[in-house]
Amino acid sequence: MDPIPSESVFKKREKSVSNDKCADCNSLCCHDLVMAIDMPKDIDDLNSLIWYLHFESSFIFINDNVWYHMIRSKCRFLSKGTKLCGNYEKRIDKCREHKPPNCERYENWYDVLFDDPYKLEEYVYENKIIKEKSFTKSSNKKNVKKNK
Ligand code: SF4
Ligand code: SF4
Repeated sequence: MDPIPSESVFKKREKSVSNDKCADCNSLCCHDLVMAIDMPKDIDDLNSLIWYLHFESSFIFINDNVWYHMIRSKCRFLSKGTKLCGNYEKRIDKCREHKPPNCERYENWYDVLFDDPYKLEEYVYENKIIKEKSFTKSSNKKNVKKNK
């Protein structure tokens, strides 16, 4: 499956060439809030995901058939200057357990990534994730509104 291109995202998340574990990494894993989400099962779910992608820091990606919502950001404890953890001694287990090579820098973290709501819609219909466009209560309501 080819990734849907998003040059700016690729560049920002580009891997460093160093293989020295965390060295020169800029702490990729301390950036971007990622949450697993359900695959859309109907037009209402799809509309919600399309709505997420109206926001500039918001992305949806799929990895190993699991869907995720990602919000570009950074941990509030990450030092801007050093790019190191400013909460190292007190950091939670989730942070302690996250280690190379099982991390964003060394593993492919997505199969397909969306930053464009219409590309997501196209993908969902092309791959028959939602079989066909059908009118639900909410889509009917929208049409009523539009036709006023
Ligand atoms: S765990 Fe991986 S992503 Fe996080 S700082 Fe180390 S090399 Fe970078
Ligand atoms: S607490 Fe530290 S290790 Fe954990 S995400 Fe924030 S900066 Fe990274």
